Amino acid sequence: MSNQRPPASSGEDDRLACFPYGVGHSAEGVCLLVQMGPHRILLDCGLNDISPLQAAGSPPADVVLCSHAHSDHAQGLLALHNAFPQLPIYASEVTTQLLPLNWLDVRPEDVPRFCQALPWQTPIEFREGLSAQLFPAGHLPGAAAILLTYTAPHRTYRLFYTGDFFLSNARLVEGLSVEALRGTQPDVLIVEGSYGTARYPHRRQQENQLVERIDQALAAKRSVLLPVPTLGLGQELLMLLRSHHQFTGRNLDIWVDGTVANACDAYLELLPHLPTSVQNFARHQPLFWDERVRPRVRRLDEQQQQNLGQTPCIVLTDETVNLKTYCGSDPSLWAILRPERLRYPSTVNDTGITGVETYLLTEHNDCMGTNQLIHNLRPQHVIFIHGSPTYLADLAGLEELQNRYHLHTPGRGTLVELPIGETFIQPAPPERNYEGELTEFGTVVTITLPEAIAADPRWQDFADTGLVEARWQGEELVLRGLSQRELLSQSSNAKMPANVDCCANCRHQRGQRCWNPASPLYAFKVTPEGYCPVFEPIEFPTGE
Ligand SMILES: [Zn+2]
Ligand SMILES: [Zn+2]
Repeated sequence: MSNQRPPASSGEDDRLACFPYGVGHSAEGVCLLVQMGPHRILLDCGLNDISPLQAAGSPPADVVLCSHAHSDHAQGLLALHNAFPQLPIYASEVTTQLLPLNWLDVRPEDVPRFCQALPWQTPIEFREGLSAQLFPAGHLPGAAAILLTYTAPHRTYRLFYTGDFFLSNARLVEGLSVEALRGTQPDVLIVEGSYGTARYPHRRQQENQLVERIDQALAAKRSVLLPVPTLGLGQELLMLLRSHHQFTGRNLDIWVDGTVANACDAYLELLPHLPTSVQNFARHQPLFWDERVRPRVRRLDEQQQQNLGQTPCIVLTDETVNLKTYCGSDPSLWAILRPERLRYPSTVNDTGITGVETYLLTEHNDCMGTNQLIHNLRPQHVIFIHGSPTYLADLAGLEELQNRYHLHTPGRGTLVELPIGETFIQPAPPERNYEGELTEFGTVVTITLPEAIAADPRWQDFADTGLVEARWQGEELVLRGLSQRELLSQSSNAKMPANVDCCANCRHQRGQRCWNPASPLYAFKVTPEGYCPVFEPIEFPTGE
């Protein structure tokens, strides 16, 4: 069932709804109209044709918030501004600086600075009773997750929109901090699920694998061609090549061409907003354009283009250009590495070019990260967007999510009503699983557990006496810490059969300790079933 119309602005104070003009399936951009009571908020405008937003002839929203500068979230903003110049548009400061990269084909004087910058973390009240708060979301410099707070007459409603987000640190942007979101308690979470339920290796591991492959190609006297999107991945790759120990100091040329080079220029303007490690790096050498420090990074000019590939080099260029421009003369001298399209099939056309390989460098969370965020925020409603509909359906099919939240995976044009229950009990997050290590030394088994286990407040109870009880439960081994209290009651209540040779029945055991100087257990705490060779039975009255 689909309702093809956005919600009409109504006087319903407690109505929450979301109408997607685009949910980012495949190459379709993200553009979501959110209604919170009387307020209409447009989240992102990644449409390349904004006519659905103009259908009513009046502004489609009261305010527009843009999560980040990638085209699938931002490319429609200029047209939207031109259609409704009075419509306020906001983003983080860095995003406002990167936005113009979306319109490089428009004359710069025709791109007004229509987007207003918002600070991080500070709630800003746009309209009476409606405020927004931006949190750094990882993924791309400036990318923001947005918390909308609407104060209705009887209660407050909160909606959290992740935009594109990534919990891991990348080279040029730190990951989203779940810690910073503590206490936000949104009723509704709109979360991107680009990678579905897949799991991927850690980002550092992926970087090392890519570095290895580039290294091998160069060693085989081949040049490396890296087609990338304008913004984000290319700059990450440059930073990786400039700072990875396998490349630093190496006599190697890295050429940058097309709009990727424009985005590098934009990054240089952002230096004060980049991670401290990057600022420190830039204190000693330029981030990108550098002929002096090896490997050299330069903008490709026409003259250089003639000589490309004569000695092995690396070229970064736009993913959409004809690659023959670079490797046409002798493709056997080139290794072409494209980023793997995890979210949807590639739309680029490599006909007539051989030897194109793909590599993995993730920029969104895998299933673990997505679920971690959801369980930390514990909203009533979760709306999944972005990526392939099958991936999103996989996520929405997860039992651990179905049992706890109302899950929605709307397509474009499907209105989602978001009724908020007053008596909703926040579901407890599921327990996390940790991996430990097992070592067997002869008769002793040592189990090593990660620190996170001991950081849990329950650990103190578990480790209280330093004694654990282990028993099999079917195929599983259950470990339980024994408390002081339990030890006491265990020994006093222990009903060991009187004919068993054990501490409980030994005349040297008093107060759960052994008082026989001849015993190896002397002065130690003993358990009722304990035993040593100098056991002596308690003298029971014989009743004779
Ligand atoms: Zn993005
Ligand atoms: Zn996106």
